Amino acid sequence: MKIHEVKQLVADLHAELPRNELVVWTAGNVSARVPGEDLLVIKPSGVSYDEITADLMVVTDLDGNLVEGDHKPSSDTAAHAYVYKHMPHVNGVVHTHSTYATAWAARGEAIPCVLTMIADEFGGEIPIGPFALIGDDSIGRGIVETLRAHRSPAVLMRNHGVFTIGRSARDAVKAAVMCEDVARTVHISRQIGTPIPIAQSDIDALYARYQNVYGQEPAA
Ligand SMILES: [Zn+2]
Repeated sequence: MKIHEVKQLVADLHAELPRNELVVWTAGNVSARVPGEDLLVIKPSGVSYDEITADLMVVTDLDGNLVEGDHKPSSDTAAHAYVYKHMPHVNGVVHTHSTYATAWAARGEAIPCVLTMIADEFGGEIPIGPFALIGDDSIGRGIVETLRAHRSPAVLMRNHGVFTIGRSARDAVKAAVMCEDVARTVHISRQIGTPIPIAQSDIDALYARYQNVYGQEPAA
């Protein structure tokens, strides 16, 4: 995949964020690793979702320095770059402040594994990451350290929002959509009763089956 194809993919995937009601205004971003290069493609800072085109996308190195593009990269670029640098299997990263998931993040409470869909997609709870300020690598470090300790491709950064990772940028977008969906369902379940935990052996079985049956990369 060439750089211009990655730019088109990242531009197209940005449309999924407002479409799935994960973002308001210019918040939220999708990035993708450029295959075989120490580069990533991400949305420029402050550009509205209606204006996003492939040509507007910016390219940075894995320290977040601008390599190509007429605009400043998203202010979240350092966090995305840190993830690519330290998690070589990750090819896509998404960040949103989607409402229900971020409500869990505001409480610093992990989303418990109380739905088969959570076991399938996340392999257990959706964990909380540390409180971290923008400006150095503390957000990136918090994401990587939390996700390394869990099967989940999503982390709820405390008092902030959601970061998801994927083997592709599309997988990372899917995880962001699923994360918001289960955050909402478990929240509603809490309003009317107590969600029932799923036994660890059942979580393991569900996760293994889903990842093997549905998680395979399409044949090249
Ligand atoms: Zn944010």
